[in-house]
Amino acid sequence: MLVDSHCHLDFPDLAANLDALLDGMKENGVGHALCVSVNLEDFPRVQALAEAHANLYASVGVHPDYENLAEPQAAQLAVLARHPRIVAIGETGLDYFRLKGDLEWQRERFRQHIRAARASGKPLIIHTRAAAADTLRIMAEEGADGVGGVMHCFTESWEVAQQAMEMNFYISFSGIVTFRNAAALKDVARRIRLDRMLVETDSPYLAPVPHRGKLNQPAYVRYVAQEIAALRGIDMREVAAATTENFFNLFKAA
Ligand SMILES: [Zn+2]
Ligand SMILES: [Zn+2]
Repeated sequence: MLVDSHCHLDFPDLAANLDALLDGMKENGVGHALCVSVNLEDFPRVQALAEAHANLYASVGVHPDYENLAEPQAAQLAVLARHPRIVAIGETGLDYFRLKGDLEWQRERFRQHIRAARASGKPLIIHTRAAAADTLRIMAEEGADGVGGVMHCFTESWEVAQQAMEMNFYISFSGIVTFRNAAALKDVARRIRLDRMLVETDSPYLAPVPHRGKLNQPAYVRYVAQEIAALRGIDMREVAAATTENFFNLFKAA
């Protein structure tokens, strides 16, 4: 059994086909999925998915790409995270690729999320793009190692992976690891210990080969696991067993 550790089933393209996507998970041995929040306005729909389906979980957080929102405060996030189906804080982090200019608000938002994770005891889902040094620095400054979490949709170097793992974080691979031009990332997937690894789709984005460019869905996490197994020369069932065990260890999902 596999788990998709990061998807956005509340996004319109996926929500419109939810029943078919849940069937697809079942047919492909994907037992569970974590629906990740990107802003507080849409959060009730994310939470509702986890309440309605025993094999879906949810997180609460505001993505760094959403500008001009009322800034979420740590105490507010921690209260929302008290719900038993909310298993993580995020996604949060830094994105210097999508947005430019003075991004101090992004760093402050990230700090609020780490404080909420520490207050609620729930792990972090961290998004980092073109901002690895600042991401690791703020994680260290705010004591993110006290709760741990996952570096989702990992695309950084082996050195960044090692530093994150030293802070008690897992590394999650998405469909990007199946792309032909992802040599450095394939190397990280080959080297990392199986007990620090998660797999995800980040659907509706980043569909893995052979569906690259199309709408992604949680069932496709099996292509990610297949690729990692091929890279390491092991059976896919070994990748599935390890990443599923890691998921439940990290998120304490029941
Ligand atoms: Zn992300
Ligand atoms: Zn995401």
